[in-house]
Amino acid sequence: MRATSGKAVLVALALAVTLAVAVWFGAAASQSPFPLVPHPTSNAPMRQALENADYAEHLAALQEIADGNGGNRTAGTSGYSASAEYVEEVLRDAGYAPVRQPFTFGHGRDAERIDSFNVLADTAGDGAHTIVVGAHLDSVRDGPGINDNGSGVAAVLEIARWVAASGGELRNRVRFAFWGAEEDGLEGSKQYVEQLTDDERDQTVLNLNIDMAGSPNGARFVHDGDGSEFGGRPPEGSDQIEKVFRDYFSAVELPVEATAFDGGSDYDAFQDAGIAVGGLFAGDVGMKSATEAEEQGGEAGVAHDPCYHRSCDDVDNVDLDLVAEMAAALGHATMAFAQGTPATQ
Ligand SMILES: [Zn+2]
Repeated sequence: MRATSGKAVLVALALAVTLAVAVWFGAAASQSPFPLVPHPTSNAPMRQALENADYAEHLAALQEIADGNGGNRTAGTSGYSASAEYVEEVLRDAGYAPVRQPFTFGHGRDAERIDSFNVLADTAGDGAHTIVVGAHLDSVRDGPGINDNGSGVAAVLEIARWVAASGGELRNRVRFAFWGAEEDGLEGSKQYVEQLTDDERDQTVLNLNIDMAGSPNGARFVHDGDGSEFGGRPPEGSDQIEKVFRDYFSAVELPVEATAFDGGSDYDAFQDAGIAVGGLFAGDVGMKSATEAEEQGGEAGVAHDPCYHRSCDDVDNVDLDLVAEMAAALGHATMAFAQGTPATQ
């Protein structure tokens, strides 16, 4: 946050030195080894359910909320609250007990404070290994945010629904997270990670993120967890997450491309905390490349989402087939880690 006490500055300095030393030695020395081996088998009933789920229902609900609240669902507004109420109702109907995690953030030069919150819902399962599966729930001020990120919200809701309906016991706990104020500087996820106790931080095995799942000229992008295409050194285990996604997409014969961890979504705070990260993205203002168009269809030289952060990001701005493909992949990864077994140290 902006206001830093002397102690916070010292902690920040110590952290900076630690990180610098870790980088100097060419390894993230402070990271503990990734504790899970992902469950290998595919889950055909889940795939079928998620490929055929009604994502349009959620998108229509969020559109209606934006329409009735000044055209957006941005943090600190009635449109955001109504979006949260919708998500909470779906989660409660599925058998979850969602909770709100409040936070406050500053905004702009006049430092006006805005109250917002995340919505969190947990499965049963051993909290010693917690998997956070998240999507941001807020929109920008300039539009209803149906692809960005109603589509990701719809995907996470349907995964949560399937997990509850399947009734199977999970080895590890899944926490479904609907982040607030992503569009205002990733505030919800940032404050979530900041508020974790040391124990909770250690229990948080990984974060799976989905942000923009149905871009109209979209592509299937998997975050580059092994750093093979964009470099960097994603936290240990991020490579395994990328592999789970890639193995899934290759099994269902859908080509993918890698995308960078560029700080553009809610995985960022987890990544900074050394927690394994991964996820899916269908593209925003970036142009579709010739290779993507050849392998995945769509129009080369045109933005993945020409309505990105605009008022036209409405229900007509979403490729529902792409949402279904991405949701099925995210569901697969969720279950692979929810049923993952402890790694032998
Ligand atoms: Zn977004």
